[in-house]
Amino acid sequence: MNLLIMGPPGAGKGTQAEVLVKELGITHISTGDMFREAIKQGTEMGKKAKEYMDKGELVPDEVVVGMVKHRLSQPDCAKGFLLDGFPRTLAQAKALDETLQSMGIGLDGVINIDVPREKLMARLTGRRVCKNCGASYHILFNPPAYAGKCNACGGELYQRSDDNEEAVSNRLDVYAAQTQPLIDYYKEKGLLKNINGDQEIKKVLADILASLGK
Ligand code: ADP
Ligand code: AMP
Repeated sequence: MNLLIMGPPGAGKGTQAEVLVKELGITHISTGDMFREAIKQGTEMGKKAKEYMDKGELVPDEVVVGMVKHRLSQPDCAKGFLLDGFPRTLAQAKALDETLQSMGIGLDGVINIDVPREKLMARLTGRRVCKNCGASYHILFNPPAYAGKCNACGGELYQRSDDNEEAVSNRLDVYAAQTQPLIDYYKEKGLLKNINGDQEIKKVLADILASLGK
């Protein structure tokens, strides 16, 4: 299965993706995680991306598209993939269509997690992420078993530098202006699966699996 998971920042894409890829036996591709890894490694691309990310702006299309094209050509994507956080603009969506067409494959579904905007600030400012495996927690809504430690790997939890009120507010505006229009793009293609993300994490997962016929 080749899938996209969409939704505003804080909708729960990463939280759901972590479990979904295990259930479905497919590869998780998060462009945000890839940029954070590049920043950690100190690469030129990472340094450039950080400037945009810290302000809550999008990294330029050509940088993201090049990175995703390369990632999709890796052997572990042949078993199927879940793209998380990409595409975020119409230009990226069209570039993805072309790339998949040239590979002789297509998308099987686009999961759109819907959460009212007023709930997203609290989700993002309370988010804590594992430094080691990237798993996402929340200090109130999804706390780890031991404070500051990842349930999955014991790694240290940290707060992302773009999970502050100013950057979040900009990210939500950028989402509304540039990414939300993609919902119609995929609806017209008959791929969209709308999921209510304003429910317990387990219920959101069950709804996603049901929408995929699982
Ligand atoms: P995204 O990848 O879409 O930006 P995350 O999966 O990182 O979002 O989730 C954002 C925050 O909201 C995290 O702190 C996460 O623990 C929390 N969260 C995720 N799903 C839910 C949910 N259904 N209800 C409440 N909080 C949630
Ligand atoms: P995320 O982890 O998905 O919340 O992404 C964090 C940040 O990485 C975003 O706010 C953007 O600055 C950047 N980013 C991730 N994916 C993309 C994308 N597809 N296009 C542009 N910028 C992106």
